[in-house]
Amino acid sequence: MLRGMERIVIPGLATYSPVALTDLAVGAPLAARVLLGATLPGRVVQTAAVGVYAASAARDWVARMGIRPIDFQEAFGADVTTLQPMSPEERRAEIGALSEALNEGYTDAGPPRAALAQQINQHLTAYISQITGQEIVTSSEVRSFNLAKVVFPFAYGTCDIISGDVAIFKDTGVLEPHVIAHEFCHRKGYLKELHAQALAYLAMRASGDPVLVQGARAERLHRQLHVLACGDRARFNELVDHAGLRPELRAAFHQLRPAPGAYESAVGKAMRGLYDKRMQWTGQNGLSDYDEGFTNLLWTFAHSERATQPREHAAI
Ligand SMILES: [Zn+2]
Repeated sequence: MLRGMERIVIPGLATYSPVALTDLAVGAPLAARVLLGATLPGRVVQTAAVGVYAASAARDWVARMGIRPIDFQEAFGADVTTLQPMSPEERRAEIGALSEALNEGYTDAGPPRAALAQQINQHLTAYISQITGQEIVTSSEVRSFNLAKVVFPFAYGTCDIISGDVAIFKDTGVLEPHVIAHEFCHRKGYLKELHAQALAYLAMRASGDPVLVQGARAERLHRQLHVLACGDRARFNELVDHAGLRPELRAAFHQLRPAPGAYESAVGKAMRGLYDKRMQWTGQNGLSDYDEGFTNLLWTFAHSERATQPREHAAI
């Protein structure tokens, strides 16, 4: 507990359920039909799951009402509509600096996922609290499967914004601390992708923990490379080869954009378009907020005259 700080606890009871409650609500009737040959027990499980889910979501919603969110424009001098674009030259220079820092600080250490998630949550809570004066206490639970994996095959993880349920689908190695931190930002009430990307970076970079700092830098490099590659997989892998990374890191970055299977490319393409539109309808720029927006935000913050937070937080 942080001394003298207002404390808001979001119970997140749904996150402690052994199976994602949303999956139970959708999947239970099917499973019951197959296993029990009847629909009534399925209905009972489904109704129970929906009930627990709704009760958990309602409690969290009430707790969240007391949160004073970070004003990104004030704190960092940048937000969704006020991003200064980086030039390709500036991106290339940043790629060089990030690669150098990653090579120097490389570590393959790191605790198992559950312990890592707890550390990340603590640093994230501390970082947000020194800006807003509120300690937002949330669950550190992470699951490795839910049905969203089937619907969003291109995602590394998801957060159900209603229940706060977080799932990490893929072992992204050095990037994992950032992926978890990003989903935990959603759990703490930051729903926009740009906000989750930036806040996860800033909190992990400021943590001083070599594994978490490495995760932050790796995600920043990953997104810079993705912008320069214009989303082209072959070009991305070519840029990775020319980034001067040590072999372990080069291999890790190649694994981020493997050739998609037939299902993945078909579903992925359709869902990507829908998701891009959904982001625009909810006051975001679109999928570009994950990479272009994210890197531009850090850039704008680093050069801002008005940001109330120290600009060093956006350092490489
Ligand atoms: Zn997200």
